[in-house]
Amino acid sequence: MTMPSSRIAALIVLVVLFWKLPHAQAQQDSVFPQVYMFEADRIAKQAVGKIVRYTGLMPNFTVISRDVKTATAYIKGGNRYIAYNPEFIFRLGNQSQTDWAAVSVLAHEIGHHLAGHTLRPRSTSPGDELAADHFSGFILYQMGASLVETQAALTAIGGELDTLRHPPPTARLSAISNGWREAQTLDNLPAYGPDSDPVDKDTVTVVYQCQFRNDENLYFINDKDEILWYDNSGKAIVIGTKQPSKSRSYAWMYHYNYFVFGVDGNGTIWEQTTFGSVHPVGKVTLIGSEVVDKNQ
Ligand SMILES: [Zn+2]
Repeated sequence: MTMPSSRIAALIVLVVLFWKLPHAQAQQDSVFPQVYMFEADRIAKQAVGKIVRYTGLMPNFTVISRDVKTATAYIKGGNRYIAYNPEFIFRLGNQSQTDWAAVSVLAHEIGHHLAGHTLRPRSTSPGDELAADHFSGFILYQMGASLVETQAALTAIGGELDTLRHPPPTARLSAISNGWREAQTLDNLPAYGPDSDPVDKDTVTVVYQCQFRNDENLYFINDKDEILWYDNSGKAIVIGTKQPSKSRSYAWMYHYNYFVFGVDGNGTIWEQTTFGSVHPVGKVTLIGSEVVDKNQ
């Protein structure tokens, strides 16, 4: 059987089209104007320099433009890098109409370095992400940003900053504003004195403690079936929910962002792969209906 020539011609057109597509995409990427690259580089380097000054440390981060989605922090050869996507940094400024948005994204990455998260490169941890968000809120207050300016990046392009790794935007906004408010409380407050210890009057009934492999953070479940992470001032941030199990294999389900883990009767947390196999990823401990009062 032979193919009619019109079909062959159509096939050739299709093949040429598909072959061309990735090249067209690459061309589009490279037309990101040089002047914007330069502008993004200026914004990123200036922002990192300013952030580090407000920590009181010497600036020893290498700031480079790289083919990353947004921005990232990593260690290579003993040096600490902050890599940013120039188009992303430029667009962030345009969309939010303020340089604070880029500052908050870069402060988040510096937070990962300063908290030591980049020493454990392969860990995926909602708690680490919220700690970096808390730091960005804290440092932006000290730099003179309003709370609205501090949250500008997440508000402008929240969905884009929200990867699988990152906690839900509501949790991230809480972490950022907690950091900002903590810095505001500490502003002009002597470390030692009658009013030196700002206390959180939240009283939470904790039922379970959860710990995951490759994550040094602890997560808790309260009597309202909310999954909580505590920041360094003892404020709880809700990152997910405990839900009933529809399967007999699990006692209940741990819902975090797009992830659903099964928890069996022994407290082992299981992850199910897309191929249907399961493997243990963590452990749940029953704490009981104990009232934790953080004022004590
Ligand atoms: Zn992060």
